[in-house]
Amino acid sequence: MPLTCQRCLTPVELDLQVDRRFRFAADEQTAAAEDEDSDEDVLAASHDFDLHALIEDELLMEIPITPRHEICPEPARFSMEDADFSASEEERPNPFAVLGALRSRKPDDPNGQ
Ligand SMILES: [Zn+2]
Repeated sequence: MPLTCQRCLTPVELDLQVDRRFRFAADEQTAAAEDEDSDEDVLAASHDFDLHALIEDELLMEIPITPRHEICPEPARFSMEDADFSASEEERPNPFAVLGALRSRKPDDPNGQ
């Protein structure tokens, strides 16, 4: 699966592997009842059962929320000496400075300042 590493933000290919067991019951009711106390997943057998969709769902659930290289190919670019990084930081207002400005404008200051 081609993903983006959340540490160095470069592409990372992750192998997804799913090993699940499913059992099929005659109908939804039986499936729900048997699924309760069963190690494997019990699904209702039906003519329009979509194995492809089931496998896709299982694989999607295997995708890590924060995909990462085990060892990143190059060190993360978080240095302040990086020209691009400093430039983009200067363009953006500091969110805490913005919050501070909003707070100081509030009229309910107990000291009346
Ligand atoms: Zn990485």
